[in-house]
Amino acid sequence: MTTEYRVVLDRETCDGIFACLVRDGRFAEADDGLATFDGVEPGDDDALVATFEDDAIEDAQQAASACPVDAIEVTEVSR
Ligand code: SF4
Repeated sequence: MTTEYRVVLDRETCDGIFACLVRDGRFAEADDGLATFDGVEPGDDDALVATFEDDAIEDAQQAASACPVDAIEVTEVSR
């Protein structure tokens, strides 16, 4: 089922543990050793926000629950 949801990655909180990467391939390691979204070059922003509309919300939720420092937040967008 397709769901629209927003994923917030708080790079200020992220500790580079990378439990998220193995649960959801949309997360990747940035040059600074912290997580980013795959293909996104993080700037100085503390938080990266991406909106998806697909059937992979569970992967994002698993990445969020696996993150030991709660740096990932997944919110379903209701219309
Ligand atoms: S699991 Fe959390 S702390 Fe580890 S890299 Fe991913 S977002 Fe950062």
